[in-house]
Amino acid sequence: MDNFRNNFRRKFKYYMQDRYGVDDLARLTLSAAGIFAVISSFTRQTTALIFRRLALLFIALTIFRVFSRDSFSRLKENIKYLGIRQDFQTKGEIARIRYDQRNTHRFFTCPGCKTTLRIPKGKGKVKITCPKCGKVFSGKS
Ligand SMILES: [Zn+2]
Repeated sequence: MDNFRNNFRRKFKYYMQDRYGVDDLARLTLSAAGIFAVISSFTRQTTALIFRRLALLFIALTIFRVFSRDSFSRLKENIKYLGIRQDFQTKGEIARIRYDQRNTHRFFTCPGCKTTLRIPKGKGKVKITCPKCGKVFSGKS
């Protein structure tokens, strides 16, 4: 049995050697397929059918990418996905910081350069000078 497993492992490794393999995007598309499959089992008729087809589509997409021989294109897709994911994480962190400081600070967007500015709360109406572009505008702190 152990021999059979080692044999299978070696053959699989040989089969996969010029194929792309699993990456973060593949993990995402497979997870999405799983979620769609679960949703389809909790819904009925047309809705269930739509989610079942979505699950199959995402499984097919995952298989296509994992076994693809065009590693360069797959790598580019994964890098693009990682960039988008990083943007979301950064936005989430900023939102959390703003939420934590909501009682002590107010946040403004500079009308000149769209930079986010932080002003201590409770000083009434104030003139704000953007440190980046020098634009002056007023706001209630
Ligand atoms: Zn500015």
